[in-house]
Amino acid sequence: MVRGNEDTILRIKGTQEPIISKEDFETVQQMIKSRRRERKDGTVSVFAGLMRCPDCGWTLSFTTNKRRNVSYYHCSKYVERGKESCPSHYIRYDVLCAYVLSRIRYWAEVAQADEEKLLKKLLSASDRENGANRKKQEKELKKAEKRKAEIDSLFTRMYEDFVSERITEYNFQMLSEKYQKEQTELEEKITSLRKKLENEKQNKEDAEKWVSLIKEYAEPTELTAPLVNALIEKILVHHAVKNEDGTKEQEIEIYYRFIGKIE
Ligand SMILES: [Zn+2]
Repeated sequence: MVRGNEDTILRIKGTQEPIISKEDFETVQQMIKSRRRERKDGTVSVFAGLMRCPDCGWTLSFTTNKRRNVSYYHCSKYVERGKESCPSHYIRYDVLCAYVLSRIRYWAEVAQADEEKLLKKLLSASDRENGANRKKQEKELKKAEKRKAEIDSLFTRMYEDFVSERITEYNFQMLSEKYQKEQTELEEKITSLRKKLENEKQNKEDAEKWVSLIKEYAEPTELTAPLVNALIEKILVHHAVKNEDGTKEQEIEIYYRFIGKIE
């Protein structure tokens, strides 16, 4: 990455040609400048690009209060359009980090303790979502494929009967319409069943991928952007609710890569 003085042009020692064009260099400078605008003191959040407001769907923006030495996220719509448009969804960065780290450690421990059990749990969750039953669908698919093959041969035989005048043209027309209709229905059914089964296979592969990833992160002591990005797709932070006894409660939803939300 290019850093430092904005008028610097990078050159490889001993050559006359700049290693990046002036245009590219200016683009990079713009990127760095806008990044500096976003993170006024240069602090970078490990959650960059992952934070969302569940109420308005806008991103949560990262801010550092230098005077108080505290970094936090809050809804970017709230920042831009005011509190009438969305609640603040304020969460302190250190609190968020601690929570996410504890969840990653929790799932890493579960994966270490019993990988098979965790996989089963993840898959039954995705099964419920699809409302699918693999065995039943496989059976249905076989049945539909068998019937389709039967109709193909029935149709051939019927055509032979028609050619050798064993059935009338009227009957031939009627039967072929009937068979064609059934054929079309079967084809649609077969396509949709194959797609469903394929999706479930994908779910299984995704779950395996995630479990092997999280196992790598057993005992992480700190969060890094690569760790967070490898495991997490997005994080939703709800606005904190104040209880009657004065305590605050805040819901944070973590959607993991490949597998979505897990409880
Ligand atoms: Zn919002």
